[in-house]
This record gives sequence, C-alpha cells and structure tokens, in this order.
Amino acid sequence: MHIPLPQPAVGTAKILDGRVALVTGSTSGIGLGIARAFAFAGASVVINGFGKPEEINDTIEGLQKETGATAVYSAADMTKPDEIAVMVNLALETFGRLDILVNNAGIFHVGPIDQVSAEKWDAVVAINLSSAFHTIRVALPAMRRQGGGRIINIASALALVGSPLTSAYTAAKHGIIGLTKVVALETAEQNITCNAICPGNVWTPLAEAHLAEQVKTGGLPREQVIRNVLLAEQPNKRFAMVEEIGAFATFLASDAAASITGAALPIDGGWTAH
Ligand code: NAD
Repeated sequence: MHIPLPQPAVGTAKILDGRVALVTGSTSGIGLGIARAFAFAGASVVINGFGKPEEINDTIEGLQKETGATAVYSAADMTKPDEIAVMVNLALETFGRLDILVNNAGIFHVGPIDQVSAEKWDAVVAINLSSAFHTIRVALPAMRRQGGGRIINIASALALVGSPLTSAYTAAKHGIIGLTKVVALETAEQNITCNAICPGNVWTPLAEAHLAEQVKTGGLPREQVIRNVLLAEQPNKRFAMVEEIGAFATFLASDAAASITGAALPIDGGWTAH
C-alpha cells in the first residue's frame, strides 16, 4: 500500500513544504549546508551541534531570515543516547512530526592504528556510527505512525574504500553502510527510505583551515597542496561544495526519491571509481 507524504501547496510548491527535518551536527559544514537546503525547500528544521552560543544563535537567525523557515536548536551530545532521545522529542513536540532524519554529526581522527587510544576509537565510533543507531531507534516509531519518512546517513568515500591512518573513522563509516541497508530492509514497505551519502573531499571551514596549515608548514604553493595532497585521491581535483551535498540530500528527502533505498551514493569526484 502506498501512503503518500504530505503534499506541497499548489501554486507555491516547494518540494519539502510541510516537512520537518532533524539534521545532527548542523552548526557547521555539511550539516549546516543540508539544513539550509532543506529550509530553502520549505522544511522546518531542528539544528544540532556544538559551538559558541552566540554563533549558534546567529546561524539560526540567519537561516530563518534567509529562508523564511522555522528552526529550533538542540544541544544534544551525539555520544549520549538520553540526550538524543530528548532531541528527537524536541522535534516531535515543537512541530508534531518528524519526516526527515539526517545523521551527519561526525569527527575525524588520523593516526597509525597502534597509536589510536581506546578513548579515541570509542569517541569516533560513538559519534560517527552509534549515534545514528540511537536517533533511528527513537525516530522510527514516529515515522511509522505518520505514514512515512526519510533517513539519510552521511557516510564518506571511506565507507567504500580504505585509507591508511584512519582505522576508527573508516570502520565507523563502513559500519554505517551496513546500518543503512538493514534499516532500509526493515522499513521497505512503510514508505520510509534509508540511504547513505558518501562524500569525498568537501569544502568546509575545516578543509579551509587544513589547507592554510599545509601551505604554511609544507612551503608548497596552494594549488599544489590542493592537487597533490588534499585531493590526491579525488580524480576531478575539486572539492565538492556543501550546497551540492544539500541539493542531493533534498532530492533524497523528496517524493521523487521514493524508490531509492538501501543505497550508498558517492559524491566523490570519481574517488571510488578507481
Ligand atoms: P564539521 O566539523 O564542519 O561539522 C561537524 C558537526 O558535528 C558540527 O556541527 C559539530 O558541532 C558536530 N558534532 C561533533 N561532535 C558532536 C557531538 N558529540 N554531538 C553533537 N554534535 C557534534 O564537519 P563536516 O566536514 O561538515 O562533516 C560532517 C559529516 O560529513 C561527518 O559525518 C563527516 O565524517 C562527513 N564527511 C565530511 C567530509 C569533508 O570533506 N568535510 C567528507 C566525507 C564525509
């Protein structure tokens, strides 16, 4: 049986009109790009993540002004299942429904496996993988009750291929592909889809800072650092923009993507085509 999601108003149609989206880790970078794209497409959004309170306030006010959407903030720590449940309830209590869940919060760690501390491993797995289990677990009953939903997990090219010095991150990101497939299979007849987006290198404040540092310490020209160091694995030799990830997530969240589920979808300039 097909149970349709709420339809946009005729005449002023935006593809996510009437939807409510929760994006974890959306105070910066890719998560903020996705939240902005959803808000421009008509959705109300729950923003989550760390940062200075005044900067978070400015971000949310700016997003609301720019898009006309309503946004609320949850400070939930993605390593804490209790706080995650409170965050999902905030969405349901504020807006009365939850249509789109994006598990985006993530941290990166680089180092040889024998020098990765147990604490670092646990933190990377908790934020990049276990948090998605905890959000999905509490969001699914509401999606089922309301007749459908969309779950999008932000994985990585490192969910599809390995790379030295990234043991915890690569293991967690590979894990989220498995979780994506299982959730897709368990919800396939419930008008709920679950997919993973696998970005390569994306231009975020972190990438910008990393580039500046490499140029300073390596003494190499900026273009050379970009091509041969940062984008060594990325054949198209350009960073993806957060707006590209936001646009793709918006499509996956829309009615048009109803038959895409259980997929790991790269936006990586050809990285995983090697
Ligand atoms: P970012 O550091 O700009 O943003 C990470 C967000 O997660 C921030 O809002 C931060 O406050 C939040 N966060 C971190 N720990 C948290 C916690 N314990 N609880 C709640 N929020 C927490 O990073 P980004 O580059 O935008 O990365 C976003 C996602 O995209 C991550 O899952 C990352 O692995 C993935 N990714 C990024 C790239 C890239 O090139 N930037 C490439 C592939 C995948």
